This record gives sequence, C-alpha cells and structure tokens, in this order.
Amino acid sequence: MLLAVGCALVACSTSAGVSVRGSQTLDTGTVPVAPVSSVPSTSSNGADQPGDGVGDELFPGLGNPGVDVTNYDVQLAFDPATEVLQATVVIDLTLTTDRQGITLDAAGPQIDSVVVDDQVVTFRQDDPELRVSLPGPGHVGDQLRVTVAYHLSPQSQESIVGLSNGWFNTVGGAYVLNEPDAAHTWLPCNDHPSDKATFTVAVTVPAGLTAIANGELTDHHSEGANEVWVWREQRPMTTYLMQLFVGDYQLVTGVGPHGLPLVSAVLRSDQLTMQSSIDQIPAQIAFFERFFGAYPLDRYGIAITDSSAGLAMETQERSYFSRDDFVQGPDQSLLAHELAHQWFGDAVSPQRWSDVWLNESFATYGEWMWMEHLGELTVDEMAKEALNGRYPGSTAHPSAQELFGYNSYEGGAVVVHALRKELGDELFFTLLQRWVAGYNGTSRTTEDFTALAEKVAGRSLSDFFAAWLYAAQTPSAFPQ
Ligand SMILES: [Zn+2]
Repeated sequence: MLLAVGCALVACSTSAGVSVRGSQTLDTGTVPVAPVSSVPSTSSNGADQPGDGVGDELFPGLGNPGVDVTNYDVQLAFDPATEVLQATVVIDLTLTTDRQGITLDAAGPQIDSVVVDDQVVTFRQDDPELRVSLPGPGHVGDQLRVTVAYHLSPQSQESIVGLSNGWFNTVGGAYVLNEPDAAHTWLPCNDHPSDKATFTVAVTVPAGLTAIANGELTDHHSEGANEVWVWREQRPMTTYLMQLFVGDYQLVTGVGPHGLPLVSAVLRSDQLTMQSSIDQIPAQIAFFERFFGAYPLDRYGIAITDSSAGLAMETQERSYFSRDDFVQGPDQSLLAHELAHQWFGDAVSPQRWSDVWLNESFATYGEWMWMEHLGELTVDEMAKEALNGRYPGSTAHPSAQELFGYNSYEGGAVVVHALRKELGDELFFTLLQRWVAGYNGTSRTTEDFTALAEKVAGRSLSDFFAAWLYAAQTPSAFPQ
C-alpha cells in the first residue's frame, strides 16, 4: 500500500524518500461501522472466548484459532442506488484443532443464517466475532463447508492504523480497501494474512455496471435486469488483498512478458487518458523479473478508481490506484511500488502484521530501482537520503500506528539497501529470488527471511540484523 502525507498517499516518488507517510483520511464524511447487534442463539457456541484471534500482537482480535480456510466462494449482490449488499459466502475450511465451535471475523455484516455442511446451525454475533456452533464434535483435519448468508449497508471505518478502510460507496459504484483489518467489515472471513486461500467472487450488479475482483474473469452474463460478473483467484491470497470495484468501468486486456495475461480496469470516461499508464506494465514487469525472478502470479493489471489522490494498493494480480494520480500521465513510482508488491506481499505474504516491512520495505526498494532505471536519483542516493530521515524505532517491531509509517517504507528500504551492501549484489538478488520462488503461496515471518539470508550468505548475519532491523536506532552509514 502507499499512503500520502496527511491524508492520502503521497506520491512520494522522486523526493528521495524524505516524505513522511502520515495518517490518511480518505473520505472525510465516512462513518465508522456501527457495532452489530447480537443475534440470539440457543447455545453459547463459540470457542476460545473472549477476543478470539491467532495471537497477532498488533491485532489480537484478527484471525480465528483452529481454522484453516482453503477457499472462499463469495456471492455478492450490490446496487449503488440503495447501497445495500446482499451476500452469501461459502467457506471451505479445515479444522486444525478439536473443537465444538468456530469463530469467523465479522464486524458489520448482519448474519441471516449459517449452515455447516448441510445443517442449519446456531450462531451468535459477538462483534468482531461470529461464533458458530458445529453440528457435532469437530476434530483436527475435518473439512467443513460453512455457508453464511448476510446483508448490510457497507461503510468505511476508521482503522486503528490511522486510515480509513473498508467499503467505500462512490457515485454510481463502490470499491474496497481492506488492508490491514477491514475485509471482515463487509465479508465474514478469517481476516488474517497467515491464512491464504483461493477465491471465487461473483458479483450481481444492475445492467450496465461492471464488477471487478481479483484474478481471472471466468463468467459474465445477464440475469434479468442485472449482470453477473464472476472472477476467480486461483493463487492463494490473503483477505486484505481482495479487490472489489463496482462502477462504469472498461476492461482493457493486453499481454505482458512471456505471454502473461494483462487485464486492467479504468473508468470508461478515463480510458484514453489512462492508456499511457497501462502501457508501462510490460516493461516494468520485465525489469523486475531481472532482479526478483519470474513474475510469481498468473496475471497482472492495474485498476484505477475515483478514490483520493495518493492512495494505492497492491490488490493481488491487479493493483489499485486513484485516478487523480494518473490524469496527468503515469505515476511511475506508484506503478512500480504496487507491482513490486506482487512479489513482496502478494506471492509471499506476512505471517503477522509486525512483518509488514517484508511488504513495504521491498516494494519501496523496487520503486527506487525503477526510478534509477528511468534516470532519476540512484538507489544509493535515495537510500542515503532515507537513512538520514529515519526516526527512532525498529523496522521489525512497529506499533499498529506505525505499521504504515516511515520505518516500514523508506526507513525499511534503508535496511534492504544495507543488506545489499552487506551481501553484495549477487547474493542479495539470489536471496530475493529464492525468497519469492521458494515461499510463493505462503505467509512468512521476519525470522524466516533472516534465516534464509544467512543460508544464502553462508554465515551468521545476527549482528547485522540486530543493528539494522531490530535496533531502534540504525547505524549512521551503510556497510562498505
Ligand atoms: Zn506498499
């Protein structure tokens, strides 16, 4: 993700990393999601109360113990005229512990029914948990199909990380921004990056509108006065990387390196203006492949909506941008940042939110590399600027409020650059390629990265990482 200073994301680009990414206020008129009212049930059916989560120190309530989701089949019906969402999600999951009940993350959806396999079961809405009774004792390894029907008038929320996220209604449409903790404000799910799954998203919208989600368009047909758009993301994906756009969009197809399918989406009225930005994609992918290894997913594209300037997000296989950043032409820095995330964050995702530097520091570094390639400031120059701009605080241990702060972006790219200096180019890029190719489709920790770095280096790097990654104050000069 990229955010701008004081508001929305700064297209910080060529300022050599001196911008401080601050909190973002997307829509000043947004209203926090109201607490859901409890739905009575006949039994206390959840498990691990209270505050169920998977132990994420920054977001203790996110994720659900004992649950490993393998696939989401999401069916949404949305009409921008009413701003009401009617939905069903079919969740295929495996139990990882013996249990009588499970929880899902859900704060906002009004649950109408829950079915486990073929049996209607009792449930209780206990914001932000949806507590579901199982029809019988559940055992490790059991595969369950949980079907949740729900409705809501979706809205954005003010996240504790200092930005608005969730569901945004626009004039004639909508879009979502889920990172880090908002997917469950409109979709009951296991809302934590440690649990990746495949997704099918079918969206029913009034005829004439386009609905876009991640992955491949597998079906599009009329249904009475509506159109149904079905998208399939076959690569394991975390919930925060979900894309959903509804509006008057035009799909623009193309071909990237090695025949990679490209599908972009722009507002129909923007199509001519945005083509020059879409045209940047093949060269950027080819450039990053030289350093990061083969493009790690099945397709790519960009999707440009009418959100606030400076906001961009690495939604999987089709990055999300704001039209105001592109009406004057391509924003090279933003494009490069979100594309680099497809390797760093999307293919390989963070296991915990405190591992977010594995996303943002590497995407920022990719941004620097691309700008150097274009003849702007060199990576070395940007890194030296950014080193001067670091403030006290560990890149490896951000607070929730610092999650999208300087030390995760430019300040973290400083750590990446120091590692490159420490290892030399050959070992450094070997490490990045092995990281992505070896862990593609999984969620990993900072310790996984440092362990692989030591393996590639053939020596201990504990002093290096202690000084650069974990210490509150980094050294004042890069390794020679
Ligand atoms: Zn980012």
